[in-house]
Amino acid sequence: MSRYIGSVCRLCRRENLKLFFKGDRCYSDKCAFDRRSYPPGQHGQRRGRKISDYGIQLREKQKVKRMYGLSEKQFHLFFKRADNQKGITGINLLVMLERRIDNVVYRLGFVNSRSQGRHFVGHNHFLVNSRKVNISSYLIKVGDVVEVREKSRKIQAIEDSLGLVVRRGVPQWLDLEKEDFKGIVKSSPTREDITTPIQEQLIVELYSK
Ligand code: SF4
Repeated sequence: MSRYIGSVCRLCRRENLKLFFKGDRCYSDKCAFDRRSYPPGQHGQRRGRKISDYGIQLREKQKVKRMYGLSEKQFHLFFKRADNQKGITGINLLVMLERRIDNVVYRLGFVNSRSQGRHFVGHNHFLVNSRKVNISSYLIKVGDVVEVREKSRKIQAIEDSLGLVVRRGVPQWLDLEKEDFKGIVKSSPTREDITTPIQEQLIVELYSK
C-alpha cells in the first residue's frame, strides 16, 4: 500500500479545508491553510478555473479519504460495506468511518490527530473493553469502553493531547472520563455529529459511475 509522505498541509490547501493533521499547530497562527488558503502549486492562485462534475465528485471523495487517512483501496472497501448496509449509503459510510478506533481515540482527545491515533493504536496503547486492540480499522460499538493502557498513561503526547481536548470538544456520542483515561461510547454517531462540511452524495455518485 502506498502511503502519502508529502506535506500534509498541502492536502488541506488542496481540499480547501482544514483537515487537522498537525494537532496543536492547526489551531495556531502557523497553520499553512490560514496563511495561504489557495490550492498548492504553481497555478494555485489562478482564478476562474472550471471544474467538471467528475472533478467535484473526485475532490469530495479525496477530502473524506484524506481526512480519515485511508488509502484508495481501504476507502473503497468501506464504501462497499456501506453500500451493502440498509439505509443511505453516504451516511452509512461517514458513520462507519467515525466508528474507526483511530478516529475514536482522536475524538476522545487521547491523540492530537487521526494519524497519531493510527500509530498509537498499532503500538497497543489502547484497550477496548479491557482487551488489546491494535487494528486501526476496528469499529467500536455502542457501550464499548475505550481506555489508555495503564503503562501508556505517562506518554507525554497522550497527556498533552488530553490537556488540549477542551478546545476541540468531545462529540456528544462519546463520554470522556479524563482522569481515568477512559471514554465510553454512549450512542452511535449520527450524520449531525459530523460537522465537517461533506457532501457524501457526491462520493456515492462518483462510485456509481
Ligand atoms: Fe491543515 Fe493547518 Fe493543520 Fe497544516 S496546520 S494540517 S494546513 S489545519
